[in-house]
Amino acid sequence: MKVHVIGGGVIGLCSAYYLSKAGHEVTILDKGDFEAGCSFGNAGMIVPSHFVPLASPGVISKGLRWMFSASSPFYIKPRLDLQLAQWLWHFYRACTPKKVREAMPVIRDLNQGSRQLYQELSDELEISFDLENKGLIMLFRTAKGEKEEIAGAEMANDLGVKAEVLSSSALKELEKGTHLEARGGVMYEGDSHLSPHLFMNAIVAHLKAAGAKFMPRTMLTGWESQKGTITHLQTEAGERLKVNQVVLAAGSWSQKILKPLKIQMPIQDGKGYSITLSEPNERPTIPSILSEDKVAITPMGKDLRFGGTLELGGMSRAVNPKRVRGVISSLPQYYPNINLPNQRDVDIWVGFRPCSPDGLPYIGRSSQVSNLVLAGGHAMMGMSLGPITGQLIAEIIGEQDPSVNLELLQPERYG
Ligand SMILES: Cc1cc2nc3c(=O)[nH]c(=O)nc-3n(C[C@H](O)[C@H](O)[C@H](O)COP(=O)(O)OP(=O)(O)OC[C@H]3O[C@@H](n4cnc5c(N)ncnc54)[C@H](O)[C@@H]3O)c2cc1C
Repeated sequence: MKVHVIGGGVIGLCSAYYLSKAGHEVTILDKGDFEAGCSFGNAGMIVPSHFVPLASPGVISKGLRWMFSASSPFYIKPRLDLQLAQWLWHFYRACTPKKVREAMPVIRDLNQGSRQLYQELSDELEISFDLENKGLIMLFRTAKGEKEEIAGAEMANDLGVKAEVLSSSALKELEKGTHLEARGGVMYEGDSHLSPHLFMNAIVAHLKAAGAKFMPRTMLTGWESQKGTITHLQTEAGERLKVNQVVLAAGSWSQKILKPLKIQMPIQDGKGYSITLSEPNERPTIPSILSEDKVAITPMGKDLRFGGTLELGGMSRAVNPKRVRGVISSLPQYYPNINLPNQRDVDIWVGFRPCSPDGLPYIGRSSQVSNLVLAGGHAMMGMSLGPITGQLIAEIIGEQDPSVNLELLQPERYG
């Protein structure tokens, strides 16, 4: 079957990979060059440990407190925007214990399935992408952080995700080559990490060798349809591409693109920053998340990447120096010996996480447009969930039974 995939981020490329593997003829179009974007500069963590959706009880009061701190990890730019208001309303409604209880096993299964697929991909792809299975440590430095992380570890073990509480001295023993100051941590040994740009380059190279067609600098601007079926894609350059099956995986841009089709798939852009230190003087070997500051730290080859913040700011690429300072200043509290460059001298990478209101991705066939399959809204877990999403998309297009129950992931669940 001929399949057009719109969007060359990790979700689009993984979809293309499994579609091509299943024997479909794949064309991937992207408004960029398949070289940059949210899927390239992220923290590269593969996180079965992250089974609690962003929308959960307690997050609203915490978020409100953070809103009033210039360097906090979360911010919503106040503005009159109907889509933002609707998104916040759905977010609020998702923050109930019942919804979270339903979502957790689904996110766990998606993550664990995806991690398994990454193992297979590291054998199947010709270029290495630095996949390492060293786990992830949630580090804390305060009594409050400790209480929250220990509660998280108990919940994880109840759900079958192995979590081990580590003392400050046990952490020092684990990271012998790095000076690490923390009150303690929780080790999730089932997590992995990789270099996202290497993974993206490896999958592009593999797809090209397998005969997939790439259309860089091709922006989708409109749809032509007849009787609920898309017949052509319109591009900014004035082309009309005749289509059979279409997969939309356009990340934070998806909601706007779907507007003419009258499909509601609420997505807000969760802007985040990352900074990569090239060959730093000290480098931890195990990825960590600084619990109180929500900063992720990942060793990547000889380099070290750290990143954080989530700003709902309406797709603005502007860098907020106060929030960047918040990210940078958290590092020495845990790793005091790592030499940090002056903020003025660092390259700050900006990415937009495509956030759904309930913290669950959208994966499924549209109920309104017969040949359209939707994949998006993976928020802070797009890298982790790329392979399993790609496999599910190939199953949907191939009319096979999906390997994961898709009921809670229906793309048109908001009407
Ligand atoms: C600071 C930070 C750290 C992160 N760390 C992690 C992590 O450790 N682990 C993890 O799992 N996730 C992480 N994430 C989240 C992850 O990066 C995202 O969830 C993921 O990249 C989203 O992938 P995507 O393919 O849906 O979207 P994108 O990567 O944004 O891809 C969408 C593509 O669609 C294209 N497009 C848009 N509109 C059009 C159009 N009209 N026509 C053609 N093409 C179009 C865009 O050019 C883009 O290339 C992090 C994100 C940030 C910001």
